[in-house]
Amino acid sequence: MGIATFIEQLEKAPISRDSKIWKDSSKADFQESLARWTDVEKKEPGAVFTHSITYGDGTGADMQQSMVKLALEATVPFVARAGGHSSWSTIGPSGFILDLSLMRSVTVDSENRTATANAGALIGDVVKAVDEKGYAAVTGTVDSVGFIPSTIGGGITLLAPLVGFGSDNIVSARMVTAKGDIITISEDENIELLYAIKGAGQFFGIVTSLTVKIHPLSILGTPGGTVWSARLGFDVSKAAEVAEAAIQVKQTTTRSYCLAGVLPAPPTLNPIIMAVIIQLGSKADAEEAFKPLLDLGPIAVLARDEVPFGRVNEAFEAFESKGGLKKWLAVGLTSMKQFQPEDMTRLVEQRARVTEKYPSAKPTGSVIEFTSCGPWDKVTEEKETAWSHRDIAIWCHLLRWSSDKEGLDYAYEVAQETKEDLRRRQEKDEYSIYGNFSRSAPVKERFKGYGRLEKLRDLKLRWDPDGVFTREFL
Ligand SMILES: Cc1cc2nc3c(=O)[nH]c(=O)nc-3n(C[C@H](O)[C@H](O)[C@H](O)COP(=O)(O)OP(=O)(O)OC[C@H]3O[C@@H](n4cnc5c(N)ncnc54)[C@H](O)[C@@H]3O)c2cc1C
Repeated sequence: MGIATFIEQLEKAPISRDSKIWKDSSKADFQESLARWTDVEKKEPGAVFTHSITYGDGTGADMQQSMVKLALEATVPFVARAGGHSSWSTIGPSGFILDLSLMRSVTVDSENRTATANAGALIGDVVKAVDEKGYAAVTGTVDSVGFIPSTIGGGITLLAPLVGFGSDNIVSARMVTAKGDIITISEDENIELLYAIKGAGQFFGIVTSLTVKIHPLSILGTPGGTVWSARLGFDVSKAAEVAEAAIQVKQTTTRSYCLAGVLPAPPTLNPIIMAVIIQLGSKADAEEAFKPLLDLGPIAVLARDEVPFGRVNEAFEAFESKGGLKKWLAVGLTSMKQFQPEDMTRLVEQRARVTEKYPSAKPTGSVIEFTSCGPWDKVTEEKETAWSHRDIAIWCHLLRWSSDKEGLDYAYEVAQETKEDLRRRQEKDEYSIYGNFSRSAPVKERFKGYGRLEKLRDLKLRWDPDGVFTREFL
């Protein structure tokens, strides 16, 4: 059945009562529904379907199940969208987008120390809901990113040294499968899929709700559940010194987060070395932990204070902006020896090469990101999950951003060179790319080690042999 007939049927079906179907691409609301973090590979779908929680059981799960069933019967392709931060929640005119963005409720169970987020909840929704009850959830750092996709894709988080990655904190999920069934995934039911949704969940179904562990703010070790957070700017001539100081922080601290690198400084977008540093502890701890960086004498101090944990993501607001042509490559390095201070200078030079040729690509930047090491960096083989990047000591994020395609293409070409350059001190089996930012990198770099790929292929054959949720692993 074609998409037009499918939409006609859908409009007559009972589920349309509490739903919206945008099908006229000339209308502003249709176009608004397509807004996303990057316009790269953005396609125009045949329709966008969204629904509120007033239907059925109030979680939206039965609505999502009905939609998947109808689409399967009609053989119409579809893709889910939550926070819209990837370039994959898009589809061409023969398919539709199942927009989950109205399903944003989060419930907190203080007694069992869990929170359950609905399909479209954003990181900010989860942070706020648990913070109000005096807890911290393990999330990423940008509030407008979809909580479920980021967590089931692995979940890099500044809380990693204390309580592990986002996916380590998954307790259970409800999921619509490729057959249109709705199942529970937990230690007691469908446990094999618990392995899959802890790192590769986007390829197995639509997770209609996700239950995760939450942690009392007392884990932060400060009286008011605060953390210390600073944003410091340094002259680009200090690139290597900043990197050297950051490496020292990684080697000597147990509760720190650091993002540092070359970024565009508004309003000129000329390069500056920025460091976002966070201590999961007090101001006194922070000043000791980050002394090597603080001693370098920043030229700009944009923030330097204790903040409630519920507001820690404010430090990352600059990364939120929607639209434009952006690509993000996250290259993992498995030992600190693989990133030397002079590599930061090369990142500055490589950005300069891009912006000199294409001033349109001035928003481009490159940063390293890491947390202190913690017990979660290694688990026993039985506790391994689909998340394959515990061994990453430091991520190098190559964010390419341009107002035109030529600028973006060139910036991305240079990013690929930078990746190869960074890999010169790596063995091939250490090559790592974070799959939450790329689906084009070789699958063995996104899901490496411990027979992981074989296991995921086997699970995919059992749960989604026809590739309803992409052909990854098939
Ligand atoms: C600015 C920025 C900051 C980021 N920060 C972090 C970070 O700190 N830590 C981290 O780990 N990652 C981070 N990421 C990566 C991010 O986690 C992934 O890109 C994530 O997939 C985005 O989810 P979304 O809902 O916003 O995007 P969407 O494009 O809506 O969805 C992403 C994918 O998930 C699928 N999907 C959507 N909803 C569901 C669902 N309920 N069940 C199953 N599949 C679903 C979609 O079909 C799509 O393929 C960041 C990305 C950006 C752009």
